Amino acid sequence: RPASVADIRKSFLDFFASKGHTVVPSSSLVPGNDPTLMFVNSGMVQFKDVFLGTDKRPYVRATSVQACLRAGGKHNDLENVGYTARHHTFFEMLGNWSFGDYFKRESLKWAWELLTEVYQLPPERLLATVYQEDDEAYDIWTKEIGLPPERVIRIGDNKGGRYKSDNFWMMADTGPCGPCSEIFYDHGEHIPGGPPGSPGEDGDRFIEIWNNVFMQFDMKEDGSVTPLPAPCVDTGMGLERLAAILQHVHSNYEIDLFDALIKAAARETGCGDLANPSLKVIADHIRATAFLVADGVIPGSEGRGYVQRRIIRRAIRHGYKLGQKTPFFHKLVADLAGLMGDAYPKLREQQSRITEVLKTEEERFFETLATGMEILDAALQGGVQQLPGDVAFKLHDTYGFPLDLSADVCRERGLTVDEAGFHAAMDKQKAQARAAGKFKMDKALDYAGELNQFTGYEQLSDTAKIV
Ligand code: ATP
Ligand code: MG
Ligand code: MG
Ligand code: MG
Repeated sequence: RPASVADIRKSFLDFFASKGHTVVPSSSLVPGNDPTLMFVNSGMVQFKDVFLGTDKRPYVRATSVQACLRAGGKHNDLENVGYTARHHTFFEMLGNWSFGDYFKRESLKWAWELLTEVYQLPPERLLATVYQEDDEAYDIWTKEIGLPPERVIRIGDNKGGRYKSDNFWMMADTGPCGPCSEIFYDHGEHIPGGPPGSPGEDGDRFIEIWNNVFMQFDMKEDGSVTPLPAPCVDTGMGLERLAAILQHVHSNYEIDLFDALIKAAARETGCGDLANPSLKVIADHIRATAFLVADGVIPGSEGRGYVQRRIIRRAIRHGYKLGQKTPFFHKLVADLAGLMGDAYPKLREQQSRITEVLKTEEERFFETLATGMEILDAALQGGVQQLPGDVAFKLHDTYGFPLDLSADVCRERGLTVDEAGFHAAMDKQKAQARAAGKFKMDKALDYAGELNQFTGYEQLSDTAKIV
């Protein structure tokens, strides 16, 4: 029997516990220690202050399975869901940490041991990247672990600027930073895509599974770096990506957990084609939204609540596309609680509350969804290339269509949205309302939330680049 998601959670933690790591539970999706970050998007977030030296723990080695969300803010994989084999909004990150204890050698050797001995991955399918200048990591891979040099790829400053690289990690503009080494798995020639660093790297053939970050330097205001007195390790591996490999499937959406969720989504939507991308979106989004409610985020018009609303409404629109005209999405909470409730008891404890919150939001959106879709469909007739900005704004303002939802519909039809026109229409209405002296408070809040989404938060969260 191939390893299930539940087996992998356990075997990962057991492995690092056997190497002297303290098992630390997942934190909430809402960061408790960082107001600049919208959601916890990697395992290291709960340890950030330990790296900064302002928090002390009774251990120097830790391991966890962390619930992560990459929607809204700096890391946003919302637009990848339904399109790639490897991205979710909500996912679980397996991680291990050294707080000034072990460094590159142990980190990479343990990663290799776990992958090739415990999980028995064929070594010839594995590749690694290192930062261009990190000879130390390169030598560990090639000379000590024995990975052939042609499968250890040096990646330089490929993101436009000194230390701007896929293989150089920074916590923020200043502070702890350092090179990283990423492990990739080759799913085989039959899948399009090139190795890391090649023009085809965005394909899904070579899938990144594990990032090993070596916090080695302190970055100053002027961009120069000095060595940290006690280097640290921060690693993150996507549980679902590892599960796909161990279960001999290519896509994260084919693993045991997603297979069950997709079947549940098919049952509730009456969709007979299990490969329909809308089912993937719904299966992904029920996880994100249910965990968000469990962690106290309810749908609203600003900040985190607005991201929550956007994810719920996107899922509902996909159900509508499959023919659902009445609330269905909330019915998947029971399936999710059954599948993930052992690992996350809060899903069972709060099952009825989560169901109610999602149902209320669904009922609300179903009131305007059909009419909004008619308007959207009509606006996309006749060979237009773009949804006009004023229509996108009307859909947003009157029918509760977040901009990204309209964009999602357009993208399915190979079209785009006039985003500048959308913002212009929004500004215009705001100015008119002000001039008329009837700038109502509820609207003001609405706008603030929307603006947060498109500007404030994006910029704020830039300061918190994680992994
Ligand atoms: P990718 O390049 O594939 O988008 P990433 O470089 O953004 O991944 P990291 O920030 O390095 O990912 O996160 C560490 C690990 O977490 C990745 O190696 C991957 O296994 C996993 N991971 C990252 N983003 C996602 C996601 N959206 N869904 C599922 N797993 C993810
Ligand atoms: Mg990414
Ligand atoms: Mg990457
Ligand atoms: Mg990465």
